[in-house]
Amino acid sequence: MRRSFVTHQFVDVIPANPDEGILYISIRYRTAVHQCPCGCGNKVVTPIKSARWHLCFDGDSVSLSPSVGSWQFPCRSHYWIRNNEIRWAEKWTQEEIEAGRERDSGALRAYYEGRTREQVDVPDQSVAERKKSGLLSRIWQWLARH
Ligand SMILES: [Zn+2]
Repeated sequence: MRRSFVTHQFVDVIPANPDEGILYISIRYRTAVHQCPCGCGNKVVTPIKSARWHLCFDGDSVSLSPSVGSWQFPCRSHYWIRNNEIRWAEKWTQEEIEAGRERDSGALRAYYEGRTREQVDVPDQSVAERKKSGLLSRIWQWLARH
């Protein structure tokens, strides 16, 4: 039977077999886990990371964004968790699944490319600076000699 709400539980370590109707949240491992609310019994793992899911705790209830689309399970459940409420969405069509996958990998790519760019930018800049100052000192040397 489809559930319409979950209760949240902050835990240190995520249990291997989560109980039905509980959203386990581990801040330490930046992960939330719950059993698929359709009743199929599958474990849904949602890593809390900037390019994956965001968790919002308002002191009483939790929300996860974006939505959870379990297209890897036969049930293909798709729902939002908003203030501990399960808001069921339409089942995804194959096209929507593909689009979702692309969007996800795009977000991940942007996330990792952003990181790489940051790491690459600094040495590139300093090489340019070195070249510039090298040229300047060569000009000074030339001026000094003439
Ligand atoms: Zn399910």
